[in-house]
Amino acid sequence: MEDCIFCKIIKGEIPSEKVYEDDEIIAFKDINPEAPVHILFVPKKHMESLLDVTEADADLISRIYQKINDVAKDLGIDKTGFRVIVNCGEDAGQLVKHLHFHLLGGKKLGSKLIK
Ligand code: AMP
Ligand code: ZN
Repeated sequence: MEDCIFCKIIKGEIPSEKVYEDDEIIAFKDINPEAPVHILFVPKKHMESLLDVTEADADLISRIYQKINDVAKDLGIDKTGFRVIVNCGEDAGQLVKHLHFHLLGGKKLGSKLIK
């Protein structure tokens, strides 16, 4: 997708602080972190939102959650806890129209909604 900021990060056209990458998934630090750990997990295939996910993506979505799990353990926040957020559409405040999963942790996140 030409004008998609995350597609540009995937292509290396915009720099990012990469935490993980494989053929299908990239994870990088959020540029405007809301917690000590704030990492975005992004499928390399451009999908606008959760609404684009179908059964054909079952393995991909499962792998994203496994990688979130691995990174949370690597960073030690498996012991303290963490939150995974997917914003979908306007009311959720989805700013970037490329599916992504926020991993947040490293502090007490409280019970308030993320946005
Ligand atoms: P959302 O509101 O769920 O669409 O979240 C988009 C997230 O992308 C926000 O938390 C932004 O801070 C983050 N973001 C936007 N541009 C960049 C970038 N170039 N590098 C890293 N994170 C970004
Ligand atoms: Zn994209």
